[in-house]
Amino acid sequence: MLRVRDCILQMREYHSPLDDSAEDLRLDMNESTIGCSPRVLAKMRSLDAKCLARYPSREQGENLVAAFLGLQPSEVLLTNGADEAIDLLCRAYLDAEDELIIIVPAFAMYEIFAQGSGAKVVRVPAEPDFSFPAARILQAISSRTRMVIITNPNNPTGAIAHREDILKVLAAAPDAAVLLDEAYFDFCGQSMIDQVGKVPNLFVARTFSKAYGLAGVRLGVLAGDTMQLSALRRACAPFNVNLLALECLGEALADQPFVDTFVQQVKATREWLRGQLESLGFKCWPSHTNFLLCDFGATKQVVLQGLRSRGISLRDRSDLKGCIRVSIGTQAEMERVLAALKQVLQKQAAR
Ligand code: PMP
Repeated sequence: MLRVRDCILQMREYHSPLDDSAEDLRLDMNESTIGCSPRVLAKMRSLDAKCLARYPSREQGENLVAAFLGLQPSEVLLTNGADEAIDLLCRAYLDAEDELIIIVPAFAMYEIFAQGSGAKVVRVPAEPDFSFPAARILQAISSRTRMVIITNPNNPTGAIAHREDILKVLAAAPDAAVLLDEAYFDFCGQSMIDQVGKVPNLFVARTFSKAYGLAGVRLGVLAGDTMQLSALRRACAPFNVNLLALECLGEALADQPFVDTFVQQVKATREWLRGQLESLGFKCWPSHTNFLLCDFGATKQVVLQGLRSRGISLRDRSDLKGCIRVSIGTQAEMERVLAALKQVLQKQAAR
């Protein structure tokens, strides 16, 4: 009988909230609600049928991204979203019985991709205030550790890890691929990209899905040591990044004023919303990203359902008691969220 490998059968399914998402105001996927730069859109619209008929080549895009990041093209691999970069690293470095260290709460895809290799996932809890558990990660590193993933800033907590702590982990696990997932880098500005090429076991992942508003186009970057990346290129499908993504990459990078304005707006709106939620008595954790994690306590389900019925989707972090993750949209959108929330709470109080 045809049989799928056990490690695939045991993989947890990723339940995307998308099927159930409100089309009206979707604040559950950390997407941009304003979309990409008009320059990117103009470039896409200019593409003709002949252009779309060709297989895409990553080379020019990798040159552009390398120049943008101050790296060599050999230190950059373009991927089908940061997701593919994570999957590729798991496939390249993890054998069954190897160990992958992640810090929980974490982005769900790490475990899912790791399960595909049959490796053991070692979950190190963040500190109670969600700060980076440096000492416990160092303790968790063993002779079996072949990968460590650090999300900086973290999803879903919004917390950051400090550079010195990350360097300690890199030094303590020289035989492990250490992935710095910098998907939310643009909202925070701290990066380890300057260490690529200097520290051979370091990989940095970035994405165009968040600040660049291109989640639907699927474009990510994996930066790392030239030797390691040359091996990874073998494991990667030759046309992993589609032509639309590659064609608009130059315009996306060139329109930094668009990204900067968007990031400034998101940060200001995030802090405004945080103040509002806290004045309603709900704890929010400091965030360096385009989302807030908020503790709604016993009212969590009422809030989720009440907002859903008003066309707004927020993310239930079922792994964190009482907590909801709210992506930050425009100021007007977040004012709508707040007004809807107040209505829901009033209705609940009147019961
Ligand atoms: N890493 C983290 C921490 C994320 O939150 C996400 C997306 N939500 C990704 C990676 C994947 O991003 P992409 O859309 O580039 O695959």
